[in-house]
Amino acid sequence: MTGKAETQKTPPQPGEWTECDVIILGAGIGGSITGAILARQGADVVLVDAGQHPRFAVGESQNPQLVEWLHILAVRYDVPELKHLLDIKAVTKHIGAHHGRKQSFGFVRHVPNREPDPGEATMFVIPKMLTEASHMFRQDTDTYYFNVAAKYGCTLRQNWRATDLDFDDEGVTVTGQNGEVFRAKYLIDASGFRSPLAQKFDLRDKPTRIRHHARSMFTHYVGIKPYDDVCGYPDALRPPAESPFHGGTLHHLIERGWFWIIPFDNYKNSRNPVCSVGLTFDERLYPQPKDKTPDEEFQHYLDMYPAVKRQFEGARRVREWISTPDRIQYSSKQTVGDRWCLMSHAAGFVDPLYSRGLSNTFEVVDALCYRVLDALRDGDFSAERFAYVERLEQGLLTYNDMIVDSSYIAFSHFRLWNAVFRVWACFTTPATMRQIQARQEYELTGDDQHFRNMEKAPYPGLWWPDSHAFKHLLDVTHETCMKYEAGEIDGDKAADIVFQAINDCESVNTPFGWKDGEDHRFYRATTPTMIKFMWWASTNGPKEMRDLGRSMLKGVAKSAVRGKKVS
Ligand SMILES: Cc1cc2nc3c(=O)[nH]c(=O)nc-3n(C[C@H](O)[C@H](O)[C@H](O)COP(=O)(O)OP(=O)(O)OC[C@H]3O[C@@H](n4cnc5c(N)ncnc54)[C@H](O)[C@@H]3O)c2cc1C
Repeated sequence: MTGKAETQKTPPQPGEWTECDVIILGAGIGGSITGAILARQGADVVLVDAGQHPRFAVGESQNPQLVEWLHILAVRYDVPELKHLLDIKAVTKHIGAHHGRKQSFGFVRHVPNREPDPGEATMFVIPKMLTEASHMFRQDTDTYYFNVAAKYGCTLRQNWRATDLDFDDEGVTVTGQNGEVFRAKYLIDASGFRSPLAQKFDLRDKPTRIRHHARSMFTHYVGIKPYDDVCGYPDALRPPAESPFHGGTLHHLIERGWFWIIPFDNYKNSRNPVCSVGLTFDERLYPQPKDKTPDEEFQHYLDMYPAVKRQFEGARRVREWISTPDRIQYSSKQTVGDRWCLMSHAAGFVDPLYSRGLSNTFEVVDALCYRVLDALRDGDFSAERFAYVERLEQGLLTYNDMIVDSSYIAFSHFRLWNAVFRVWACFTTPATMRQIQARQEYELTGDDQHFRNMEKAPYPGLWWPDSHAFKHLLDVTHETCMKYEAGEIDGDKAADIVFQAINDCESVNTPFGWKDGEDHRFYRATTPTMIKFMWWASTNGPKEMRDLGRSMLKGVAKSAVRGKKVS
Protein backbone atom coordinates (compact mmCIF):
# COMPACT_ATOMS: atom_id res chain seq x y z
CA MET A 1 0.00 0.00 0.00
CA THR A 2 1.56 3.26 -1.06
CA GLY A 3 -1.26 5.61 -0.16
CA LYS A 4 -0.95 7.04 -3.70
CA ALA A 5 -3.59 6.84 -6.32
CA GLU A 6 -3.01 4.71 -9.38
CA THR A 7 -4.42 7.26 -11.77
CA GLN A 8 -5.48 6.36 -15.27
CA LYS A 9 -6.52 9.87 -16.22
CA THR A 10 -5.32 13.33 -15.24
CA PRO A 11 -6.59 14.08 -11.75
CA PRO A 12 -8.43 17.36 -11.17
CA GLN A 13 -6.15 20.37 -10.76
CA PRO A 14 -6.14 23.34 -8.35
CA GLY A 15 -8.83 25.77 -9.41
CA GLU A 16 -11.12 22.91 -10.36
CA TRP A 17 -11.92 22.04 -6.78
CA THR A 18 -13.26 23.39 -3.48
CA GLU A 19 -10.84 23.02 -0.59
CA CYS A 20 -11.65 21.73 2.89
CA ASP A 21 -9.92 20.11 5.84
CA VAL A 22 -11.83 16.85 5.99
CA ILE A 23 -14.20 15.13 3.59
CA ILE A 24 -16.54 12.47 4.95
CA LEU A 25 -18.10 9.95 2.58
CA GLY A 26 -21.49 8.85 3.91
CA ALA A 27 -23.86 10.98 5.96
CA GLY A 28 -25.50 8.20 7.94
CA ILE A 29 -25.55 8.61 11.69
CA GLY A 30 -21.83 7.75 11.86
CA GLY A 31 -20.67 10.21 9.20
CA SER A 32 -23.02 12.98 10.32
CA ILE A 33 -21.97 12.82 13.97
CA THR A 34 -18.31 12.71 12.98
CA GLY A 35 -18.89 15.75 10.78
CA ALA A 36 -20.71 17.59 13.56
CA ILE A 37 -17.88 16.91 16.02
CA LEU A 38 -15.08 17.99 13.71
CA ALA A 39 -16.92 21.09 12.54
CA ARG A 40 -17.82 21.99 16.12
CA GLN A 41 -14.11 21.83 16.91
CA GLY A 42 -13.29 24.23 14.10
CA ALA A 43 -12.51 21.96 11.15
CA ASP A 44 -13.74 22.81 7.68
CA VAL A 45 -15.76 19.67 6.85
CA VAL A 46 -17.52 18.48 3.71
CA LEU A 47 -20.09 15.73 4.29
CA VAL A 48 -21.46 13.94 1.24
CA ASP A 49 -24.01 11.19 0.77
CA ALA A 50 -25.06 9.18 -2.25
CA GLY A 51 -28.65 9.16 -1.00
CA GLN A 52 -30.97 11.65 0.62
CA HIS A 53 -32.49 12.01 4.08
CA PRO A 54 -34.84 10.83 5.39
CA ARG A 55 -33.95 7.30 4.41
CA PHE A 56 -34.21 3.82 5.87
CA ALA A 57 -31.22 2.32 7.67
CA VAL A 58 -30.68 -0.68 9.92
CA GLY A 59 -28.80 -0.38 13.18
CA GLU A 60 -31.85 0.45 15.27
CA SER A 61 -31.10 -1.24 18.56
CA GLN A 62 -28.73 0.45 20.99
CA ASN A 63 -26.52 -1.17 23.60
CA PRO A 64 -25.36 0.41 26.88
CA GLN A 65 -21.85 1.07 25.63
CA LEU A 66 -23.15 2.97 22.61
CA VAL A 67 -25.16 5.23 24.89
CA GLU A 68 -22.11 5.95 27.00
CA TRP A 69 -19.88 6.56 23.94
CA LEU A 70 -22.42 9.15 22.81
CA HIS A 71 -22.30 10.73 26.25
CA ILE A 72 -18.51 10.83 26.09
CA LEU A 73 -18.57 12.39 22.63
CA ALA A 74 -21.09 14.99 23.82
CA VAL A 75 -18.86 16.24 26.63
CA ARG A 76 -15.45 15.63 25.11
CA TYR A 77 -16.22 17.41 21.84
CA ASP A 78 -18.87 19.76 23.16
CA VAL A 79 -21.78 18.61 21.00
CA PRO A 80 -24.70 18.71 23.45
CA GLU A 81 -27.14 17.38 20.83
CA LEU A 82 -25.56 13.96 21.31
CA LYS A 83 -27.21 13.84 24.72
CA HIS A 84 -30.51 13.67 22.87
CA LEU A 85 -29.87 9.98 22.26
CA LEU A 86 -29.11 9.09 25.87
CA ASP A 87 -32.55 7.86 26.87
CA ILE A 88 -35.98 7.45 25.36
CA LYS A 89 -37.37 10.56 27.05
CA ALA A 90 -34.65 12.72 25.53
CA VAL A 91 -34.97 11.02 22.14
CA THR A 92 -38.72 11.61 22.13
CA LYS A 93 -38.44 15.20 23.29
CA HIS A 94 -35.74 16.30 20.85
CA ILE A 95 -35.94 13.97 17.87
CA GLY A 96 -39.59 12.93 17.87
CA ALA A 97 -42.15 10.43 19.08
CA HIS A 98 -41.15 7.59 16.75
CA HIS A 99 -38.69 5.63 18.83
CA GLY A 100 -38.95 2.67 21.18
CA ARG A 101 -37.36 1.92 24.51
CA LYS A 102 -34.85 -0.82 25.01
CA GLN A 103 -35.02 -2.10 28.53
CA SER A 104 -33.46 -5.43 27.81
CA PHE A 105 -31.91 -7.99 25.52
CA GLY A 106 -34.32 -10.97 25.60
CA PHE A 107 -33.49 -14.37 24.06
CA VAL A 108 -35.92 -17.24 23.49
CA ARG A 109 -34.81 -20.55 22.05
CA HIS A 110 -37.00 -22.30 19.47
CA VAL A 111 -36.88 -25.66 17.75
CA PRO A 112 -38.79 -26.39 14.53
CA ASN A 113 -42.45 -27.36 14.72
CA ARG A 114 -42.63 -27.24 18.52
CA GLU A 115 -43.78 -24.80 21.14
CA PRO A 116 -40.70 -23.30 22.82
CA ASP A 117 -39.76 -24.56 26.25
CA PRO A 118 -40.48 -21.58 28.57
CA GLY A 119 -37.42 -22.59 30.57
CA GLU A 120 -35.21 -21.91 27.55
CA ALA A 121 -35.16 -18.13 27.64
CA THR A 122 -32.60 -15.68 28.99
CA MET A 123 -32.65 -11.93 29.48
CA PHE A 124 -30.26 -9.18 30.41
CA VAL A 125 -32.02 -6.05 31.63
CA ILE A 126 -29.87 -2.96 31.13
CA PRO A 127 -29.09 -1.53 34.59
CA LYS A 128 -31.05 1.70 34.53
CA MET A 129 -28.86 3.20 37.17
CA LEU A 130 -26.02 3.49 34.65
CA THR A 131 -27.57 3.96 31.22
CA GLU A 132 -30.84 3.59 29.41
CA ALA A 133 -31.18 2.57 25.79
CA SER A 134 -33.59 3.03 22.91
CA HIS A 135 -34.72 1.62 19.60
CA MET A 136 -33.83 4.30 17.09
CA PHE A 137 -36.08 4.92 14.12
CA ARG A 138 -33.07 5.58 11.95
CA GLN A 139 -34.71 7.66 9.29
CA ASP A 140 -35.43 10.25 11.99
CA THR A 141 -32.22 10.00 14.02
CA ASP A 142 -30.05 10.15 10.93
CA THR A 143 -31.88 13.17 9.53
CA TYR A 144 -31.61 14.89 12.90
CA TYR A 145 -27.83 14.44 13.10
CA PHE A 146 -27.39 15.40 9.46
CA ASN A 147 -29.04 18.69 10.40
CA VAL A 148 -26.82 19.00 13.49
CA ALA A 149 -23.80 18.60 11.19
CA ALA A 150 -25.21 21.44 9.09
CA LYS A 151 -25.76 23.57 12.19
CA TYR A 152 -22.08 23.28 13.15
CA GLY A 153 -21.00 24.34 9.69
CA CYS A 154 -20.43 21.23 7.58
CA THR A 155 -20.79 21.76 3.85
CA LEU A 156 -23.38 19.20 2.80
CA ARG A 157 -24.14 17.37 -0.40
CA GLN A 158 -26.91 14.80 -0.87
CA ASN A 159 -27.47 12.63 -3.92
CA TRP A 160 -23.72 13.02 -4.29
CA ARG A 161 -21.93 9.76 -4.89
CA ALA A 162 -18.16 9.82 -4.54
CA THR A 163 -16.86 8.16 -7.68
CA ASP A 164 -13.16 9.05 -7.83
CA LEU A 165 -10.55 9.39 -5.10
CA ASP A 166 -7.02 10.58 -5.83
CA PHE A 167 -4.40 10.75 -3.11
CA ASP A 168 -1.07 12.57 -3.32
CA ASP A 169 1.41 13.88 -0.77
CA GLU A 170 -0.54 17.09 -0.23
CA GLY A 171 -4.10 15.83 0.05
CA VAL A 172 -6.99 13.87 -1.42
CA THR A 173 -9.20 14.86 -4.32
CA VAL A 174 -12.75 13.48 -4.34
CA THR A 175 -14.94 13.70 -7.41
CA GLY A 176 -18.69 13.21 -7.34
CA GLN A 177 -20.84 11.61 -10.02
CA ASN A 178 -21.89 15.14 -11.05
CA GLY A 179 -18.30 16.19 -11.68
CA GLU A 180 -18.00 18.43 -8.61
CA VAL A 181 -14.59 18.11 -6.95
CA PHE A 182 -13.46 18.58 -3.35
CA ARG A 183 -9.89 18.72 -2.18
CA ALA A 184 -9.30 17.69 1.45
CA LYS A 185 -6.39 17.16 3.79
CA TYR A 186 -7.99 14.03 5.22
CA LEU A 187 -10.67 11.58 4.11
CA ILE A 188 -13.01 9.58 6.36
CA ASP A 189 -14.95 6.85 4.63
CA ALA A 190 -18.19 6.26 6.57
CA SER A 191 -20.03 4.81 3.60
CA GLY A 192 -20.43 1.23 4.84
CA PHE A 193 -20.00 -2.00 2.93
CA ARG A 194 -19.72 -0.44 -0.54
CA SER A 195 -16.84 1.79 0.53
CA PRO A 196 -15.17 3.52 -2.43
CA LEU A 197 -11.94 3.67 -0.42
CA ALA A 198 -11.91 -0.09 0.19
CA GLN A 199 -12.42 -0.55 -3.52
CA LYS A 200 -9.78 1.97 -4.51
CA PHE A 201 -7.03 0.44 -2.38
CA ASP A 202 -8.32 -3.15 -2.54
CA LEU A 203 -8.59 -3.22 1.25
CA ARG A 204 -10.96 -6.12 1.76
CA ASP A 205 -9.73 -9.43 3.12
CA LYS A 206 -10.52 -11.96 0.42
CA PRO A 207 -11.94 -14.12 1.80
CA THR A 208 -12.92 -12.32 4.95
CA ARG A 209 -11.12 -13.44 8.09
CA ILE A 210 -14.44 -13.45 9.98
CA ARG A 211 -15.17 -17.02 11.04
CA HIS A 212 -18.87 -16.46 11.60
CA HIS A 213 -21.29 -16.90 8.69
CA ALA A 214 -24.74 -15.38 8.19
CA ARG A 215 -26.95 -13.68 5.67
CA SER A 216 -29.87 -11.44 6.60
CA MET A 217 -33.35 -10.36 5.54
CA PHE A 218 -35.13 -7.47 7.22
CA THR A 219 -38.00 -5.02 6.94
CA HIS A 220 -40.59 -3.08 8.98
CA TYR A 221 -44.05 -4.30 10.03
CA VAL A 222 -47.07 -2.88 11.78
CA GLY A 223 -49.30 -4.95 14.03
CA ILE A 224 -46.66 -7.24 15.57
CA LYS A 225 -48.07 -8.61 18.83
CA PRO A 226 -45.96 -8.47 22.00
CA TYR A 227 -44.44 -11.89 22.59
CA ASP A 228 -45.65 -11.67 26.19
CA ASP A 229 -49.24 -11.77 24.87
CA VAL A 230 -48.82 -14.82 22.67
CA CYS A 231 -46.18 -17.01 24.32
CA GLY A 232 -48.54 -18.66 26.82
CA TYR A 233 -45.79 -19.10 29.41
CA PRO A 234 -46.79 -19.73 33.03
CA ASP A 235 -46.23 -16.64 35.21
CA ALA A 236 -43.38 -18.27 37.12
CA LEU A 237 -41.38 -18.73 33.93
CA ARG A 238 -41.84 -15.24 32.52
CA PRO A 239 -39.31 -12.43 32.83
CA PRO A 240 -39.83 -9.98 35.72
CA ALA A 241 -43.08 -8.02 35.32
CA GLU A 242 -41.08 -4.75 35.15
CA SER A 243 -39.23 -5.92 32.05
CA PRO A 244 -41.45 -7.94 29.73
CA PHE A 245 -40.08 -9.34 26.47
CA HIS A 246 -41.72 -6.50 24.53
CA GLY A 247 -39.89 -3.89 26.62
CA GLY A 248 -36.69 -4.45 24.71
CA THR A 249 -35.06 -6.15 21.75
CA LEU A 250 -36.26 -9.72 21.43
CA HIS A 251 -34.09 -12.38 19.84
CA HIS A 252 -35.80 -15.61 18.78
CA LEU A 253 -32.95 -18.09 18.54
CA ILE A 254 -33.05 -20.96 16.07
CA GLU A 255 -30.41 -23.41 14.89
CA ARG A 256 -27.56 -21.14 13.65
CA GLY A 257 -29.78 -18.08 13.31
CA TRP A 258 -32.15 -15.64 14.99
CA PHE A 259 -35.14 -13.42 14.35
CA TRP A 260 -35.03 -9.88 15.73
CA ILE A 261 -38.08 -8.01 16.96
CA ILE A 262 -37.32 -4.33 17.63
CA PRO A 263 -40.51 -2.46 18.56
CA PHE A 264 -40.82 1.29 18.14
CA ASP A 265 -44.28 1.20 19.72
CA ASN A 266 -43.25 0.07 23.21
CA TYR A 267 -42.78 3.49 24.79
CA LYS A 268 -45.84 5.19 26.17
CA ASN A 269 -45.29 8.41 24.23
CA SER A 270 -44.38 6.76 20.95
CA ARG A 271 -46.72 7.40 18.05
CA ASN A 272 -44.98 4.94 15.78
CA PRO A 273 -46.77 1.60 15.29
CA VAL A 274 -43.81 0.14 13.41
CA CYS A 275 -41.69 -2.79 14.51
CA SER A 276 -38.39 -3.74 12.91
CA VAL A 277 -38.13 -7.39 11.99
CA GLY A 278 -35.20 -9.37 10.71
CA LEU A 279 -33.92 -12.86 10.27
CA THR A 280 -30.18 -13.44 10.29
CA PHE A 281 -29.02 -16.99 9.68
CA ASP A 282 -26.15 -19.06 8.41
CA GLU A 283 -26.28 -19.02 4.61
CA ARG A 284 -24.58 -22.43 4.48
CA LEU A 285 -27.59 -23.94 6.23
CA TYR A 286 -30.22 -21.58 4.82
CA PRO A 287 -29.18 -20.56 1.29
CA GLN A 288 -31.36 -17.93 -0.34
CA PRO A 289 -33.98 -19.85 -2.36
CA LYS A 290 -34.18 -18.98 -6.05
CA ASP A 291 -37.85 -19.94 -6.34
CA LYS A 292 -39.33 -17.95 -3.44
CA THR A 293 -40.04 -14.28 -2.86
CA PRO A 294 -38.72 -12.88 0.44
CA ASP A 295 -42.31 -12.93 1.77
CA GLU A 296 -42.59 -16.60 0.91
CA GLU A 297 -39.23 -17.41 2.37
CA PHE A 298 -39.97 -15.56 5.60
CA GLN A 299 -43.38 -17.21 5.87
CA HIS A 300 -41.68 -20.58 5.45
CA TYR A 301 -39.62 -19.91 8.57
CA LEU A 302 -42.55 -18.47 10.51
CA ASP A 303 -44.45 -21.67 9.75
CA MET A 304 -41.64 -23.64 11.39
CA TYR A 305 -41.76 -21.70 14.67
CA PRO A 306 -45.36 -21.52 15.95
CA ALA A 307 -44.81 -19.08 18.83
CA VAL A 308 -42.95 -16.63 16.61
CA LYS A 309 -45.68 -17.01 14.01
CA ARG A 310 -48.33 -15.97 16.53
CA GLN A 311 -46.58 -12.61 16.95
CA PHE A 312 -47.10 -12.01 13.23
CA GLU A 313 -50.80 -12.94 13.05
CA GLY A 314 -52.58 -9.98 11.45
CA ALA A 315 -49.32 -8.02 11.09
CA ARG A 316 -48.55 -6.26 7.82
CA ARG A 317 -45.28 -5.43 6.19
CA VAL A 318 -44.85 -1.70 5.49
CA ARG A 319 -41.72 -1.64 3.37
CA GLU A 320 -39.87 -3.90 0.95
CA TRP A 321 -37.65 -6.66 2.24
CA ILE A 322 -33.93 -6.25 2.02
CA SER A 323 -32.58 -9.75 1.63
CA THR A 324 -28.90 -10.40 1.15
CA PRO A 325 -28.11 -13.36 -1.09
CA ASP A 326 -24.68 -13.84 0.48
CA ARG A 327 -23.13 -13.63 3.89
CA ILE A 328 -22.91 -10.14 5.41
CA GLN A 329 -19.48 -10.55 7.01
CA TYR A 330 -16.54 -8.60 5.65
CA SER A 331 -13.26 -7.32 7.00
CA SER A 332 -10.34 -5.21 5.82
CA LYS A 333 -6.63 -5.86 5.96
CA GLN A 334 -5.94 -2.19 6.67
CA THR A 335 -8.26 0.49 8.04
CA VAL A 336 -6.07 3.59 8.25
CA GLY A 337 -3.48 4.99 5.86
CA ASP A 338 -1.77 8.27 5.08
CA ARG A 339 -4.62 10.80 4.99
CA TRP A 340 -7.47 8.29 5.24
CA CYS A 341 -9.57 6.18 7.58
CA LEU A 342 -12.03 3.46 6.75
CA MET A 343 -14.49 3.96 9.58
CA SER A 344 -16.02 1.03 11.44
CA HIS A 345 -18.95 -0.06 9.25
CA ALA A 346 -16.86 0.62 6.14
CA ALA A 347 -14.02 -1.42 7.65
CA GLY A 348 -15.94 -4.57 8.49
CA PHE A 349 -19.01 -6.19 9.96
CA VAL A 350 -19.82 -9.37 11.85
CA ASP A 351 -23.50 -9.63 12.84
CA PRO A 352 -26.25 -7.55 14.45
CA LEU A 353 -26.41 -9.96 17.42
CA TYR A 354 -25.85 -7.99 20.68
CA SER A 355 -26.37 -4.66 18.84
CA ARG A 356 -22.70 -3.78 18.77
CA GLY A 357 -22.51 -2.08 15.35
CA LEU A 358 -23.10 1.50 16.42
CA SER A 359 -21.25 1.15 19.68
CA ASN A 360 -18.24 0.05 17.63
CA THR A 361 -18.76 2.97 15.26
CA PHE A 362 -18.79 5.56 18.02
CA GLU A 363 -15.85 4.07 19.88
CA VAL A 364 -13.93 4.52 16.62
CA VAL A 365 -15.32 8.05 16.16
CA ASP A 366 -14.07 8.93 19.63
CA ALA A 367 -10.57 7.63 18.95
CA LEU A 368 -10.46 9.11 15.45
CA CYS A 369 -11.75 12.64 15.99
CA TYR A 370 -9.11 13.98 18.36
CA ARG A 371 -6.40 12.47 16.18
CA VAL A 372 -7.79 14.18 13.10
CA LEU A 373 -7.96 17.49 14.99
CA ASP A 374 -4.37 17.05 16.22
CA ALA A 375 -3.26 16.13 12.70
CA LEU A 376 -4.92 19.26 11.29
CA ARG A 377 -3.06 21.37 13.84
CA ASP A 378 0.29 19.69 13.08
CA GLY A 379 -0.17 19.25 9.34
CA ASP A 380 0.84 15.60 9.67
CA PHE A 381 -1.65 12.97 8.50
CA SER A 382 0.62 9.95 8.46
CA ALA A 383 -0.85 6.56 9.22
CA GLU A 384 1.39 6.07 12.30
CA ARG A 385 -0.55 8.74 14.17
CA PHE A 386 -3.68 6.65 13.70
CA ALA A 387 -2.14 3.29 14.65
CA TYR A 388 -4.43 2.92 17.67
CA VAL A 389 -7.51 3.35 15.46
CA GLU A 390 -6.24 0.48 13.32
CA ARG A 391 -5.75 -1.76 16.37
CA LEU A 392 -9.15 -0.80 17.71
CA GLU A 393 -11.00 -1.48 14.46
CA GLN A 394 -9.33 -4.85 14.00
CA GLY A 395 -9.92 -5.78 17.65
CA LEU A 396 -13.59 -4.85 17.46
CA LEU A 397 -14.03 -7.26 14.57
CA THR A 398 -11.99 -10.05 16.13
CA TYR A 399 -13.65 -10.08 19.55
CA ASN A 400 -17.10 -9.56 18.13
CA ASP A 401 -16.50 -12.50 15.80
CA MET A 402 -15.48 -14.67 18.75
CA ILE A 403 -18.62 -14.02 20.80
CA VAL A 404 -20.99 -14.13 17.83
CA ASP A 405 -19.46 -17.32 16.46
CA SER A 406 -19.67 -18.91 19.92
CA SER A 407 -23.28 -17.82 20.24
CA TYR A 408 -24.46 -19.18 16.90
CA ILE A 409 -22.81 -22.49 17.74
CA ALA A 410 -24.50 -22.49 21.15
CA PHE A 411 -28.01 -21.75 19.82
CA SER A 412 -28.44 -25.49 19.26
CA HIS A 413 -27.92 -26.41 22.92
CA PHE A 414 -29.67 -24.43 25.63
CA ARG A 415 -27.24 -25.12 28.48
CA LEU A 416 -24.34 -24.03 26.32
CA TRP A 417 -26.28 -20.96 25.20
CA ASN A 418 -27.04 -20.10 28.84
CA ALA A 419 -23.29 -20.17 29.54
CA VAL A 420 -22.24 -18.20 26.45
CA PHE A 421 -24.96 -15.63 27.14
CA ARG A 422 -23.47 -15.09 30.60
CA VAL A 423 -19.99 -14.59 29.15
CA TRP A 424 -21.31 -11.84 26.88
CA ALA A 425 -23.54 -10.21 29.49
CA CYS A 426 -21.40 -10.37 32.62
CA PHE A 427 -18.79 -7.96 31.26
CA THR A 428 -21.23 -5.53 29.70
CA THR A 429 -21.66 -3.63 32.96
CA PRO A 430 -17.95 -3.21 33.85
CA ALA A 431 -17.43 -2.20 30.21
CA THR A 432 -19.95 0.61 30.59
CA MET A 433 -18.60 1.54 34.02
CA ARG A 434 -15.08 2.12 32.71
CA GLN A 435 -16.50 4.56 30.17
CA ILE A 436 -18.56 6.34 32.83
CA GLN A 437 -15.54 6.51 35.12
CA ALA A 438 -13.40 8.21 32.45
CA ARG A 439 -16.18 10.65 31.59
CA GLN A 440 -16.84 11.57 35.21
CA GLU A 441 -13.16 12.20 35.83
CA TYR A 442 -12.98 14.32 32.69
CA GLU A 443 -16.03 16.32 33.74
CA LEU A 444 -14.46 16.90 37.14
CA THR A 445 -11.02 17.94 35.92
CA GLY A 446 -11.39 18.91 32.25
CA ASP A 447 -8.33 16.75 31.58
CA ASP A 448 -8.58 14.90 28.25
CA GLN A 449 -5.93 12.48 29.47
CA HIS A 450 -8.67 10.50 31.24
CA PHE A 451 -9.99 9.50 27.83
CA ARG A 452 -6.55 8.95 26.35
CA ASN A 453 -5.71 6.63 29.26
CA MET A 454 -8.54 4.32 28.16
CA GLU A 455 -6.48 3.58 25.06
CA LYS A 456 -3.73 1.99 27.16
CA ALA A 457 -5.86 -1.13 27.62
CA PRO A 458 -4.16 -4.32 26.44
CA TYR A 459 -7.06 -5.57 24.28
CA PRO A 460 -8.57 -2.73 22.23
CA GLY A 461 -11.90 -3.81 20.81
CA LEU A 462 -12.77 -6.20 23.64
CA TRP A 463 -15.80 -4.78 25.42
CA TRP A 464 -13.88 -4.69 28.69
CA PRO A 465 -10.44 -4.20 27.12
CA ASP A 466 -8.55 -3.85 30.42
CA SER A 467 -9.33 -7.32 31.68
CA HIS A 468 -6.92 -10.23 31.18
CA ALA A 469 -9.43 -12.41 33.03
CA PHE A 470 -12.19 -11.56 30.60
CA LYS A 471 -9.94 -12.12 27.58
CA HIS A 472 -9.10 -15.55 28.97
CA LEU A 473 -12.76 -16.36 29.58
CA LEU A 474 -13.68 -15.37 26.02
CA ASP A 475 -10.80 -17.46 24.63
CA VAL A 476 -11.93 -20.51 26.60
CA THR A 477 -15.54 -19.98 25.53
CA HIS A 478 -14.73 -19.74 21.85
CA GLU A 479 -12.32 -22.69 21.88
CA THR A 480 -14.91 -24.80 23.69
CA CYS A 481 -17.70 -23.87 21.30
CA MET A 482 -15.51 -24.70 18.32
CA LYS A 483 -14.75 -28.11 19.84
CA TYR A 484 -18.46 -28.71 20.26
CA GLU A 485 -19.06 -27.62 16.67
CA ALA A 486 -16.35 -30.00 15.46
CA GLY A 487 -17.98 -32.87 17.37
CA GLU A 488 -14.99 -33.30 19.69
CA ILE A 489 -17.15 -32.82 22.79
CA ASP A 490 -20.89 -32.88 23.34
CA GLY A 491 -23.03 -29.87 24.26
CA ASP A 492 -23.28 -30.71 27.95
CA LYS A 493 -19.54 -31.10 28.26
CA ALA A 494 -19.05 -27.77 26.47
CA ALA A 495 -21.57 -26.09 28.78
CA ASP A 496 -19.83 -27.57 31.84
CA ILE A 497 -16.49 -26.15 30.68
CA VAL A 498 -17.84 -22.65 30.07
CA PHE A 499 -19.84 -22.57 33.33
CA GLN A 500 -16.73 -23.73 35.17
CA ALA A 501 -14.65 -21.01 33.50
CA ILE A 502 -17.23 -18.42 34.59
CA ASN A 503 -17.10 -19.72 38.16
CA ASP A 504 -13.31 -19.70 38.15
CA CYS A 505 -13.09 -16.15 36.80
CA GLU A 506 -12.63 -13.85 39.77
CA SER A 507 -13.69 -10.80 37.75
CA VAL A 508 -17.16 -12.25 37.15
CA ASN A 509 -19.28 -10.68 39.85
CA THR A 510 -21.51 -12.63 42.21
CA PRO A 511 -24.06 -9.94 43.21
CA PHE A 512 -25.65 -9.95 39.73
CA GLY A 513 -25.94 -13.73 39.98
CA TRP A 514 -23.66 -14.67 37.08
CA LYS A 515 -22.29 -17.57 39.12
CA ASP A 516 -25.72 -18.76 40.27
CA GLY A 517 -27.24 -22.08 39.25
CA GLU A 518 -28.40 -22.57 35.69
CA ASP A 519 -32.02 -21.79 36.50
CA HIS A 520 -31.10 -18.12 36.96
CA ARG A 521 -31.92 -16.91 33.47
CA PHE A 522 -33.28 -13.37 33.79
CA TYR A 523 -30.84 -10.76 35.06
CA ARG A 524 -32.29 -7.52 36.28
CA ALA A 525 -29.93 -5.45 38.39
CA THR A 526 -32.02 -3.15 40.54
CA THR A 527 -30.41 -0.19 42.30
CA PRO A 528 -29.73 -2.22 45.49
CA THR A 529 -28.11 -4.96 43.35
CA MET A 530 -25.97 -2.37 41.61
CA ILE A 531 -24.85 -0.96 44.94
CA LYS A 532 -24.03 -4.46 46.21
CA PHE A 533 -22.09 -5.05 43.01
CA MET A 534 -20.08 -1.84 43.39
CA TRP A 535 -19.43 -2.64 47.02
CA TRP A 536 -18.27 -6.14 46.04
CA ALA A 537 -16.07 -4.67 43.29
CA SER A 538 -14.45 -2.12 45.58
CA THR A 539 -13.90 -4.46 48.52
CA ASN A 540 -13.77 -8.13 47.42
CA GLY A 541 -13.30 -7.75 43.69
CA PRO A 542 -9.97 -8.35 41.96
CA LYS A 543 -7.66 -5.41 41.39
CA GLU A 544 -9.03 -4.63 37.92
CA MET A 545 -12.48 -4.21 39.45
CA ARG A 546 -11.51 -2.24 42.53
CA ASP A 547 -10.92 1.17 40.98
CA LEU A 548 -14.05 0.90 38.93
CA GLY A 549 -16.13 -0.08 41.94
CA ARG A 550 -14.77 2.73 44.10
CA SER A 551 -15.20 5.49 41.60
CA MET A 552 -18.70 4.31 40.73
CA LEU A 553 -19.64 4.24 44.41
CA LYS A 554 -18.44 7.84 44.71
CA GLY A 555 -20.58 8.70 41.69
CA VAL A 556 -23.58 6.97 43.26
CA ALA A 557 -23.15 8.93 46.47
CA LYS A 558 -23.01 12.22 44.54
CA SER A 559 -25.97 11.29 42.36
CA ALA A 560 -27.99 10.27 45.40
CA VAL A 561 -27.40 13.73 46.81
CA ARG A 562 -28.62 15.22 43.51
CA GLY A 563 -31.42 12.62 43.24
CA LYS A 564 -30.26 11.51 39.77
CA LYS A 565 -28.84 8.45 38.01
CA VAL A 566 -25.04 8.12 37.89
CA SER A 567 -24.20 10.75 35.32
C1 LIG B 1 -28.71 -6.48 9.12
C2 LIG B 1 -28.03 -5.50 10.02
C3 LIG B 1 -28.59 -5.18 11.24
C4 LIG B 1 -27.94 -4.28 12.10
N1 LIG B 1 -28.47 -4.02 13.33
C5 LIG B 1 -27.79 -3.24 14.19
C6 LIG B 1 -28.31 -2.94 15.48
O1 LIG B 1 -29.38 -3.39 15.86
N2 LIG B 1 -27.59 -2.13 16.29
C7 LIG B 1 -26.41 -1.58 15.91
O2 LIG B 1 -25.79 -0.85 16.69
N3 LIG B 1 -25.91 -1.82 14.68
C8 LIG B 1 -26.56 -2.63 13.82
N4 LIG B 1 -26.07 -2.85 12.58
C9 LIG B 1 -24.88 -2.12 12.17
C10 LIG B 1 -25.31 -0.72 11.73
O3 LIG B 1 -26.21 -0.82 10.66
C11 LIG B 1 -24.14 0.12 11.33
O4 LIG B 1 -23.17 0.09 12.34
C12 LIG B 1 -24.60 1.55 11.16
O5 LIG B 1 -25.67 1.66 10.26
C13 LIG B 1 -23.48 2.35 10.69
O6 LIG B 1 -23.95 3.66 10.48
P1 LIG B 1 -23.20 4.55 9.49
O7 LIG B 1 -23.76 5.90 9.55
O8 LIG B 1 -21.73 4.42 9.72
O9 LIG B 1 -23.47 3.87 8.06
P2 LIG B 1 -24.79 3.79 7.20
O10 LIG B 1 -26.00 4.01 8.00
O11 LIG B 1 -24.66 2.51 6.43
O12 LIG B 1 -24.64 5.01 6.19
C14 LIG B 1 -23.71 4.99 5.13
C15 LIG B 1 -24.09 6.10 4.16
O13 LIG B 1 -23.08 6.16 3.15
C16 LIG B 1 -23.70 6.53 1.94
N5 LIG B 1 -22.83 6.12 0.82
C17 LIG B 1 -22.56 4.87 0.38
N6 LIG B 1 -21.71 4.92 -0.67
C18 LIG B 1 -21.43 6.22 -0.88
C19 LIG B 1 -20.60 6.92 -1.82
N7 LIG B 1 -19.88 6.28 -2.76
N8 LIG B 1 -20.55 8.27 -1.77
C20 LIG B 1 -21.27 8.95 -0.83
N9 LIG B 1 -22.05 8.34 0.08
C21 LIG B 1 -22.13 6.99 0.06
C22 LIG B 1 -25.02 5.79 1.96
O14 LIG B 1 -25.96 6.42 1.12
C23 LIG B 1 -25.41 5.87 3.44
O15 LIG B 1 -26.29 6.94 3.73
C24 LIG B 1 -26.72 -3.71 11.70
C25 LIG B 1 -26.18 -4.00 10.45
C26 LIG B 1 -26.81 -4.89 9.62
C27 LIG B 1 -26.19 -5.21 8.28
